Amino acid sequence: MNEKRQYDSLEASELYCPQCKSARPVHRHLLLVLPTGNKYEYRCANCGTPVGAKDDTDNREYNEILRGRKLSD
Ligand SMILES: [Zn+2]
Repeated sequence: MNEKRQYDSLEASELYCPQCKSARPVHRHLLLVLPTGNKYEYRCANCGTPVGAKDDTDNREYNEILRGRKLSD
């Protein structure tokens, strides 16, 4: 069940930043959790400029949120 987490560390860790005019390490920010998967944005670790985005089809996070809400009601 936890194997997806391992893939996270294999994702892009450097992307070209137009602001820094070179490849920079990036931080991944979770933007949206949807029933169809999650939307992420990559931002330059140096200046914070968004340099890329990514969607995945892992809806486990969404389901966990739903389940959490139901439990807390
Ligand atoms: Zn930058």
